[in-house]
Amino acid sequence: MAWLKRKDTEPETPLHQLSEEDFLTLSRISATMDALPLGVVVMSGDGSNMWSNRAADSLFTPQSDDHILFVESLDGLLREALAGAIGKTELDFGDQVVRTIEIATVTLTDGGAAAIVEDITQRLMIDRVRTDFVANISHELRTPIGAISLMAENLIAEMGKSESARLAEIILNEVTRLNETVNDLLDLARIEFDGLSKRESIHTARVIDEAVGRIRSAALAKSVMIVVEDNPDMSVIGDRAQLVSAVGNLIDNAVKYSDQGSIVKVEVRREEGRMLISVADNGPGIAPEHLGRVFERFYRVDDARSRGTGGTGLGLAIVRHIALLHGGDVSVKSEVGVGSTFTLSIPAV
Ligand code: ADP
Repeated sequence: MAWLKRKDTEPETPLHQLSEEDFLTLSRISATMDALPLGVVVMSGDGSNMWSNRAADSLFTPQSDDHILFVESLDGLLREALAGAIGKTELDFGDQVVRTIEIATVTLTDGGAAAIVEDITQRLMIDRVRTDFVANISHELRTPIGAISLMAENLIAEMGKSESARLAEIILNEVTRLNETVNDLLDLARIEFDGLSKRESIHTARVIDEAVGRIRSAALAKSVMIVVEDNPDMSVIGDRAQLVSAVGNLIDNAVKYSDQGSIVKVEVRREEGRMLISVADNGPGIAPEHLGRVFERFYRVDDARSRGTGGTGLGLAIVRHIALLHGGDVSVKSEVGVGSTFTLSIPAV
């Protein structure tokens, strides 16, 4: 640890006045701080002194313009932290080559404050490249898939009942499946890369209504009835579109894996500060050895059945990711031959 900025010429307790035990503790802490890859800057409780570890010192050339600006920014943020205002700030330094430094401040129990400092320039660049990649790949894949679908539909119309028409029908089915997989993969990639970019207050009753509305026609086609048993209005913080997608995926699965004419029950309740949304079906159920794996990407219990129902193997991975982003989780209880109940749990406000 080094002095980053010192107003007094001597620390409050000169080192030679420390007991041997305190001195050893201090030098151990100091060595540990210097070994950390993250920058750490500590301000004394009265705001008169700042210490920094090696990682924080090596961010900028000492006494360069950026270094002076960095120390001033730290000084300001740490003083705010001493007054109780802690938080995370991103600051840009440099003209031609911009470097972004993230500074997270915390208050210390002895009255001082600390800042965790990290150069996140590289991470931001990788995030940008990933987001661009998803946008590009979305265009590059969807355009030819759309064109092949259209051509196959035209071929079927032109060929009537011939063998070629049957083959064109197969092309159309496969391409439809490919389209669904690409859409799910891109949804998952977007959720992973963008994270929870929106944080708004959401009425859960509307989320359920919208999710049920999306699946209604598929359920009708199978004569499956979706019954919303209880839908009290609660609020959660998050991304509405993502939550509709998560609940929609659970209801979609329940309908997909249910027999003709069965009932799918949706129930919303509050338990210990959490909003629980359960989707229960009387479908085939899932054997215990598969239960822990159904949330993995492309994991299917019964490959043939899942493909037959148009599954991509990504739906539950999407649900889990959305649940985690909202500080929640998703669980399943199931019995073979009886049915399954998936429960999404999100902190309620
Ligand atoms: P898929 O698109 O194949 O349905 P999911 O990720 O949504 O992919 O689900 C993974 C697997 O979990 C499915 O292939 C299926 O075997 C099983 N599964 C999901 N939901 C249910 C359900 N409600 N009843 C029985 N099995 C289910």
